[in-house]
Amino acid sequence: MSVDCVFCQIIGGKIPTKIIYKDNLISVFEDIDPIAPIHYLLVPNRHIPSLNEIDAEDAGLLSHLVLVAKDFAVHTGISATGYRLMINTGKDGSQTVDHLHMHLIGGRKLLGRIVS
Ligand code: 5GP
Ligand code: ZN
Repeated sequence: MSVDCVFCQIIGGKIPTKIIYKDNLISVFEDIDPIAPIHYLLVPNRHIPSLNEIDAEDAGLLSHLVLVAKDFAVHTGISATGYRLMINTGKDGSQTVDHLHMHLIGGRKLLGRIVS
């Protein structure tokens, strides 16, 4: 838990946000500024600043993030049409919240290349 971290505050219930899914490892909620009809954030409950702080011990956490994202894709009906999972990291990766998170984006045709 980091007191000045917006995602820690959301997970801790200090910023009112509808948590759509939560288990012992991760929480899922909608992005406040969605770029597509489906735009979820999958967030470890533990404060991890970015992918740079991940090591081999976190392999289970990372695979869990991907598997839950896939389940969300199925249950929101976008698995057949397709979707994108994205983990922005650091300054050049345009990471704006320094708490590791994965975007699940879909429900419209996304550009074929990762944009700028
Ligand atoms: P990043 O650019 O770091 O990969 O993505 C951070 C995402 O968090 C952005 O898409 C932004 O819209 C979202 N976000 C920032 N603050 C909040 C918030 O308070 N609540 C929610 N639900 N999403 C947020
Ligand atoms: Zn945090």
